[in-house]
Amino acid sequence: MNTTAQGPRAEIDLAALRANVRLLRERAPGAAFMAVVKADAYGHGALACARAAREAGASWLGVATPAEALALRAAGAEGRMLCWLWTPGGPWRAAIEADIDVSVSGQWALDEVAAAARAAGATARVHLKADTGLGRNGCQPADWPALVGNALALQAEGLVRVVGLWSHFACADEPGHPSIAAQLTLFEEMTGLAARLGVRAEVRHIANSPATLSLPESHYDLVRPGIAMYGLSPSPTMGTHTDFGLRPVMRLVAPLALVKRVPGGHGVSYGHLYVTPGDTTLGLVPLGYGDGIPRHASGSGPVLVNGKWHTVAGRIAMDQFVVDLGGDTPAPGSEAVLFGPGDRGEPSAEDWARAADSIVYEIVTRIGARVPRVHLNG
Ligand SMILES: *Cc1c(COP(=O)(O)O)cnc(C)c1O
Repeated sequence: MNTTAQGPRAEIDLAALRANVRLLRERAPGAAFMAVVKADAYGHGALACARAAREAGASWLGVATPAEALALRAAGAEGRMLCWLWTPGGPWRAAIEADIDVSVSGQWALDEVAAAARAAGATARVHLKADTGLGRNGCQPADWPALVGNALALQAEGLVRVVGLWSHFACADEPGHPSIAAQLTLFEEMTGLAARLGVRAEVRHIANSPATLSLPESHYDLVRPGIAMYGLSPSPTMGTHTDFGLRPVMRLVAPLALVKRVPGGHGVSYGHLYVTPGDTTLGLVPLGYGDGIPRHASGSGPVLVNGKWHTVAGRIAMDQFVVDLGGDTPAPGSEAVLFGPGDRGEPSAEDWARAADSIVYEIVTRIGARVPRVHLNG
């Protein structure tokens, strides 16, 4: 018996992912495409999504941590891969030997990557990251000439090759925000300075999903979409996925574990925040915050059962929550759909983001390891 197919599950439509990659590539025709598959591909399954993205023309993969990069390589993921979130003592040598491009934001990282390259007897491919205004990772403009100069000195020794110059936006999901133009100007200045000092970068890149969708002048040589590849709009300010022709990749569904009649005035779930307004039926959905369903969506998260939208009744618990079915009596095992592409009228992850006062990124990424991913159309 296939228990996965019976129980709660996240169905991942790889055909939708491929279609989204193709659509985004059309939006950035002159640029290479880096499929961002960090955090297990935003909860969608990194290896399967990496493969599907490559089939649709993504020549690069992007991940945050070295552990993610090495795991993908060990599982057989091919092509160029950039890994950008390093800490001192990280597995630089293993990354170099696994043919992974690495990001460097500061001198300590340059020192460590050079030492690892020397030990490996190899040349490390490095992307120097500029802080053009995000104020997170990346090298400040004041420290940039020294970092670039030191990288070029190591390049002359054959220890590193500076193949990328890159940065990341703070507010690309708010088109027209003044920081966007300011960051692009500084990116021009910092990459221009690096070029004058002698860097011949293969790729300059700064565009995430919102910039790929809305800011052609930010595409440069490569774009790095994440959330849009999974079929979701980066922010309600920019519209919904349908406004961009994107198709949500994840469909989160669970069979009802119990359907029962209860009298009016009956408290539901911890704290009795919901009390039945009259005789009704309750459906038990076997998913909870232990599966990444945001507890903050207690009393507000939408669920499709038998063609009708219902709202989470009362508190979302660790493993389960309840919907008031209003007298309907679907059979136990009937599907409760939390979100999906919308083909059958189900809510979207964007609806859940609103209900939970969160963002779509968090809704899909936090779906837990207990929920099996069922990859379709691979
Ligand atoms: C996560 C991330 C991306 C992708 O961002 P989206 O908004 O999901 O497209 C791109 N670049 C970097 C550095 C990231 O951390």
